[in-house]
Amino acid sequence: MSITPLMPVYPRSGVRPVRGEHCHLIDEDGTRYLDFAAGIAVNILGHSHPGLIGAIQRQAETLMHVSNLYGSPQGEALAARLVDLTFADTVFFTNSGAEAVECAIKTARAYHQSAGNDDKFELITFANAFHGRTMATISASNQEKMHKGFAPLLPGFRYVEFGDLEGVKAAMGPNTAGFLIEPIQGEGGIRTGTDEFITGLRQLADENDLMLVFDEVQTGVARTGTLYAYEQYGIEPDILATAKGIGGGFPLGACLATEKAARGMTFGTHGSTYGGNPLAMAAGMAVLDAVANDEFLAEVREKGERIRTRLEQFIGNYPELFEGVRGKGLMLGLRMKVEPRPFMQHLRDSHQLLTVAAGDQTLRILPPLVIGDAEIDEFFDKLSAGAADYRHPES
Ligand SMILES: *Cc1c(COP(=O)(O)O)cnc(C)c1O
Repeated sequence: MSITPLMPVYPRSGVRPVRGEHCHLIDEDGTRYLDFAAGIAVNILGHSHPGLIGAIQRQAETLMHVSNLYGSPQGEALAARLVDLTFADTVFFTNSGAEAVECAIKTARAYHQSAGNDDKFELITFANAFHGRTMATISASNQEKMHKGFAPLLPGFRYVEFGDLEGVKAAMGPNTAGFLIEPIQGEGGIRTGTDEFITGLRQLADENDLMLVFDEVQTGVARTGTLYAYEQYGIEPDILATAKGIGGGFPLGACLATEKAARGMTFGTHGSTYGGNPLAMAAGMAVLDAVANDEFLAEVREKGERIRTRLEQFIGNYPELFEGVRGKGLMLGLRMKVEPRPFMQHLRDSHQLLTVAAGDQTLRILPPLVIGDAEIDEFFDKLSAGAADYRHPES
């Protein structure tokens, strides 16, 4: 047998972390890495946050899981907190981002179909989007590399260029149910939706009774300097998927919706065995306790601005490598003039700095939101050293 016990779907690197300490990961053989990948925007409180650990420990000792057949004081409390903090009136808890997007897609379809509009099932989505790896969420993306071998795709998605409002108008028709969009594309390369584009989508949705669905799985939970990125556009979505940071490392996601948008989501229409279990609720509550306040959010914005300013100065020294800085808050990207993957590997293997490669020739910088001056300085030391001794492989 040559297949590995772990299904070989990931090209895993040689870094094999066994322990985390705040903003660092420690490898099997004791090597310390500065973690500016944060589990791809998951470990927003770093790796050993006492509040998060304590909340999970206490809840694990008290009650880990019960079925959704029973009342859920823990779920009600976290849902009420999210309703308080956001546009939403109601919340469905999931265990992952893809499931949160699945619920968002079902909610958008059911909004129309529960009112008898059975032909309104199509969501307009955007080129190079990433919404997860389930059948529905790969179908929602135009990225062929995620489709290959998994045909047939789920019908009901139309792809338009990110930022192309005229293209959206042209793609709309009698089957259109709404729009599904990442306000800042993460894996697509930290591409930020402009104010004009996002408010344009809101206006089109209002004029045509369509659902504006935000995938904030990566942008959400303080990452961009507000609790959710939609706040920075001065609009509200009808439905929003959140995950990644919301559990701080515990598997948790949620689909948020207004009362109007959720009109089709009635008894028996949706469910999840684990979704919203007490252990996950404790983790989510501990994360919100830490991040959902003005001081924390202001610090994320301030640290984001500081890193961005230094990055802009830094890239001036390496015009052959870097083209520009992208993103908001602590969701940052370095647009490169060469493929970012070998540079990411060089930073990782030669300088013990973890970042994430993304589409559109962009290197993602996604530190834990709790970084301080010391981690920022260490990041620039490693990045500068990495750029100075980098030799891009001949293509
Ligand atoms: C990571 C991600 C997902 C999928 O989340 P999983 O937890 O891997 O299912 C969906 N949408 C966006 C924008 C993401 O970044």
